[in-house]
Amino acid sequence: MRENKFKNGKPYFSKEAWRYYFGFFSGQHRKLLLTSVVATAQAALIIPILLLVRYIFDVAIPEKKVDMLVMIGLAIIGIRLINMSVTLLLRRINIKIVTTAIYRLRDDLMKKVFTFSRTLYTREDQRILHARIVQDTERIMRMSNSMISGLIPAILISIGLCVILLVFNWFLFVVIILFFPVIFFSNRYMGKILKKRVFAYQRSFENFSKGVLFLLKFLDLIKIQTAEKIEEKKQRKVLKDLKEKATQRTYFTSINFQVQTFLVSISGILVIVVGGVSVINEFMTLGDFFAFYIAANHLQTNLNSINNSFAKVLTGNESLITLQHIAATTEKEPYSGNRKIAFKGNIELRSVIFGYNEKPVLQGISLKITPESKIAVIGPNGAGKSTIIHLILGFYAPQSGTITAEGVDFKEIDFSHFRKQVGVVSQHPLLFPGSIIENITYGNERTEKETVIKISKITLAHNFIEKLEDGYETQIGEDGVLLSGGERQKIALARALLNRPKLLILDEPTNHLDDSAVKEILSNLDHIDFKPAVFVISHDKAVANFAENIYLLENGKLQSVKNEEL
Ligand code: ADP
Repeated sequence: MRENKFKNGKPYFSKEAWRYYFGFFSGQHRKLLLTSVVATAQAALIIPILLLVRYIFDVAIPEKKVDMLVMIGLAIIGIRLINMSVTLLLRRINIKIVTTAIYRLRDDLMKKVFTFSRTLYTREDQRILHARIVQDTERIMRMSNSMISGLIPAILISIGLCVILLVFNWFLFVVIILFFPVIFFSNRYMGKILKKRVFAYQRSFENFSKGVLFLLKFLDLIKIQTAEKIEEKKQRKVLKDLKEKATQRTYFTSINFQVQTFLVSISGILVIVVGGVSVINEFMTLGDFFAFYIAANHLQTNLNSINNSFAKVLTGNESLITLQHIAATTEKEPYSGNRKIAFKGNIELRSVIFGYNEKPVLQGISLKITPESKIAVIGPNGAGKSTIIHLILGFYAPQSGTITAEGVDFKEIDFSHFRKQVGVVSQHPLLFPGSIIENITYGNERTEKETVIKISKITLAHNFIEKLEDGYETQIGEDGVLLSGGERQKIALARALLNRPKLLILDEPTNHLDDSAVKEILSNLDHIDFKPAVFVISHDKAVANFAENIYLLENGKLQSVKNEEL
C-alpha cells in the first residue's frame, strides 16, 4: 500500500488510522480468527459436491442409475443446508464483533469531544465535526461488515478454491490465472478513480447537511434580512454540486461493477472453451469438466464479492483517516490537574497576560475575588471581560502570570470538580429543547421539586413560570425561543444556583434584566444559605451600583475605581 502520499491534504493510507481502528477489536481477535478458520474450512464443503457432480456425469448418467441421481441430489441439498447454517452462525458472530467495535469507536469519539479545548471547537466548524462523527462512523461500520463478513471469507475461500481447481486440472487453472492480472490492474485503476469520486461526494454531502442546518437555525435572521433569495441561490449551488457529485459517484460505481463483472465472466467463457476442447481431446472427462466449471463459477462469485467489498473498504479507509485525525487532535483542555479543592470563593489572578493569538487581550491584570464579595468589571465591548471569565473557568491558560483558587495553582486543580462549584450565567444562556424543569435541573436531575421552586423564587423565575399553563413542565423550544431574554436569564440563573456555587459569574446581566430585577436577585442571594461571591462583568456602568469592588478594564489593563468616578 502507499504511504505518505497526499491527496487533498489527506493520506491515501495511514498506519496510525488502521492501528486506531484495530484497537477497537481488542479481545475479539481470537473470535475473528476462529470465524475466519471456519469460513475457510467451509470452502472444503465444495469438495464432496464436486466429487458427486463428477460421479453424476461420469457414472450415474452413462449407466442410467436414476436412484443414485436422486440420492446424490438429496446429498447435495444436505451439504448446502449445512453450508447455509454455518454461514449464518458465522455472520451472527461477526456482526456482534463489528457492532461492538463500532460501539467502542463511537464511545471513544464521544469521550474525546469532552476533552476538546475551547480553541478547537470554537475554530472548527461544529456542523462538520458533527457530520464526521455521525456519518464517518457509519461508513466505517459498513466497511467493517463488508470486510469481516464479505472480504476476508471471500479471500480465504478463493484461495481454497484455487487449490481445488489446481488439483482438478492444473492446465485449465493456469489458463484462468493468466487472465487475473487483467482483472487486478483494471480493478486498481478503477478503484483509484472511484476513491476520488467518493471523497468529492462526501465533502459535497457535508456542505448540503451544513446548509440545511443553517437554514433551520437562522430562519428568523434570513427573513428579517430578507435574504431568502440569496440563501436560495446559495443552497441551489450546493444542491447542484451534490447532484453532480452523486451522479458521478453512483455512475462510476456502476461502470466499475460492470467492467469487473464483464472481465470475470470472460474467465468463465475461457473455461468453457478450453475445457470443451480438453473433453473433446479426452484430456478430461465430462464429469471433471462440470465439476471444474462449478468450482470456477464459485470462484467467480467470490471474486465479485471481493470486488464489491473493496469499494466499501475504500470509503471506510477515507473515513477512518478523518476520524483518527479528530481523535488524535492534540488540542486538549489547557489544564489536567487532579487536585480536588473545597472552594470557598477565593480566586486570585496575578499579573496575567493572555491573548488568543499574538495580540494580547489582557496585558498583566491582577484581581482578587474573596468569599461572599461582590465584584464588578466594567469596560467597553471587546475589552476582554469575557476573556477573564474564560480564564477563571479554565477554558484557556494565561501565557504569563498565575491564577489560583484557594491559593492552589490552576495547573494542579481538577477542573470538572472545581467548575461544579462555580455558577455561570452567560449573556446568551444555553437552553436546550425540553421543559423548564429539565433545563433548570440539567446536571442535577435528582433535585426535589421544592428545591427547584425555592431557587426559582430567588432568581425571580418562579413568578412567570407559575403563570404558564404547564408551569415547570412547559416546553421551551430550541434554544428557549418561546421565552423572553429575561426569562431565559432567570432560568439559567436558577440552573447555576442549583449547584450551590461559591462563586456566581454574571455576564452582562442588565442586557436582559432591568436594574431593579438585578438588584432584587442580588439582595435575595444575600439571604441564601451558601451565599456565593458574585462576579459581574458588563459594559453597562449601572452594574457598579450592585458591587462593592469595581474595576475598569481598558486597553488590556484593569484598575480599581470608585462608583462616583464612573
Ligand atoms: P468583552 O467580553 O469585553 O466584550 P472579549 O473578552 O469577548 O471582550 O474579547 C476580547 C477580545 O478577544 C476581542 O478583540 C475579541 O475579538 C477577541 N476574542 C474573543 N474570543 C476569541 C477567540 N475565541 N479567539 C480569538 N479571539 C477572540
